[in-house]
Amino acid sequence: MSANSSLNAEVLVLGGGPGGYTAAFRAADLGKQVVLVEKYPVLGGVCLNVGCIPSKALLHIAQIIHEADEMASHGVSFGKPEIDLDKIRHFKESVTKTLNQGLDGLVKQRKITRLQGTGQFTSANTLDLNTEDGVQTITFENAIIAAGSSPTRIPVFPNDDPRLMDSTDALALEDIPEKLLIVGGGIIGLEMATVYHALGSKISIVELMPQIIPGCDKDLVLPLQKRIKKQYDNIWLKTKVSAIEPTDAGLKVSFEGDKAPESEVFDKVLIAVGRRPNGLKIGADKAGIKFDEAGFIPVDKQQRTNIPHIFAIGDIVGNPMLAHKAVHEGKVAAEVISGQKSAFDALTIPSVAYTDPEVAWMGITENQAKEQGIDYEKGAFPWAASGRALSLGRNEGLTKVLCDKETGRIIGAGMVGPNAGELIAEATLALEMGADAEDVGLTIHPHPTLSETFAFAAEMISGSITDLYIKKK
Ligand code: FAD
Ligand code: NAD
Repeated sequence: MSANSSLNAEVLVLGGGPGGYTAAFRAADLGKQVVLVEKYPVLGGVCLNVGCIPSKALLHIAQIIHEADEMASHGVSFGKPEIDLDKIRHFKESVTKTLNQGLDGLVKQRKITRLQGTGQFTSANTLDLNTEDGVQTITFENAIIAAGSSPTRIPVFPNDDPRLMDSTDALALEDIPEKLLIVGGGIIGLEMATVYHALGSKISIVELMPQIIPGCDKDLVLPLQKRIKKQYDNIWLKTKVSAIEPTDAGLKVSFEGDKAPESEVFDKVLIAVGRRPNGLKIGADKAGIKFDEAGFIPVDKQQRTNIPHIFAIGDIVGNPMLAHKAVHEGKVAAEVISGQKSAFDALTIPSVAYTDPEVAWMGITENQAKEQGIDYEKGAFPWAASGRALSLGRNEGLTKVLCDKETGRIIGAGMVGPNAGELIAEATLALEMGADAEDVGLTIHPHPTLSETFAFAAEMISGSITDLYIKKK
């Protein structure tokens, strides 16, 4: 490529993560000429390369290690697992690579022009692409910004020390530290704790708020908290890390909190305190695109920024930062550009922590219902009364359904227990279809499955439950 060579795009997509590649594919399928720009040689963004997929490959290994261990109490003993980190890394990378190759094929099939380089807007109709071979100017009729987010770093910490990790470093699985501190009891922190604990690390978690996964109802988090309390060295809530000092022995971490020690030395520390949008790094101001102080780009229901032909999707437009939200928004933006009357009008975006047990919720949480003064009815079915849960040796789970008292419709649901992440999809569909508790209870669920717990929780509201005895009011 010669310096300053130029190209025109009917639709330019900036960023090849789940939001960006979905938008590019949908726009191409609707007949648009699409240019997809990605900084890295592989597509898939954070989710596929350093997020959802590699973490789930490792979490599956963690699950098998735990299940094999727990089988001893069911009468089957396996030996102590032998960990071959090179093979584990290879397995994780092979999963990612397979999906990378799949995306490459889908780009080719749709005849999308794919360019590697870092894009920066230079005006409302031009973007400069910085590549190893020089700068290429792309002019565009429409653009979709899907530039994602990056891990939040705390500037006062020794960020150059390789013993201080972010999620990408943690997923690289360079070694298994004997003592690992995780700063942040959110989803990343808890998922990585699950992985490293299974592989042999002693885990401590420090969380600023009074509860891990603070956005979720306490009753759904409690079974997870109880289980990991037994497994991990420490879970320090309402606690702040005030300093991290590199020493020869490890990272000396100072704490401020009721129950935490003044300081303790760890072999490694994972910082998992959230992610920041990449909106400050793309020359948005040159295109006249509005963004807030953090770098989020505000959009309307059609994913349109303040510049009518520039759209934005995914992590860069706001929370929740989830791949399935990015994908849905990507389709909306591509369809609007293609002249369809699409809008983001999903009633809910489900959340899942792939911990052990998994925690999943959707719709309104009970905390939110209380805060908003919503009159609701609740059905909460304990998995201790589920034949399937007991046969798995797991009775700590709970399925909760919330219905609006006036309309009877389902407004929220949550599950904690193995496979909760799969079960929440049914609740999400029920909410989208405007189902009430009776609709769910009258839907025949296969027996014995964990999915029955959703029907049982609904029957607790409609009053037809027979798997538990509830005294008449
Ligand atoms: P990204 O995936 O961040 O993609 C943005 C892309 O844009 C990147 O490839 C980047 O290189 C590129 N880019 C940025 N700037 C430029 C530029 N100037 N020029 C060219 N290219 C650029 N979500 C879930 O739903 N489920 C999960 O299980 C889950 N697990 C996760 C686990 C971890 C460890 C992490 C970190 C995140 C996880 N997430 C999960 C969140 C999920 O990864 C993100 O919500 C999702 O990737 C957002 O998609 P996106 O397309 O908006 O952005
Ligand atoms: P998060 O916001 O989910 O959790 C961060 C946690 O750190 C919060 O509980 C917060 O109270 C705590 N915290 C913040 N500052 C702190 C401090 N100084 N000391 C101690 N605790 C502190 O963020 P995350 O876990 O880093 O995840 C980032 C994003 O990635 C989230 O938006 C999440 O939705 C997404 N993600 C999703 C999945 C999934 O869907 N399974 C998995 C991983 C990541």
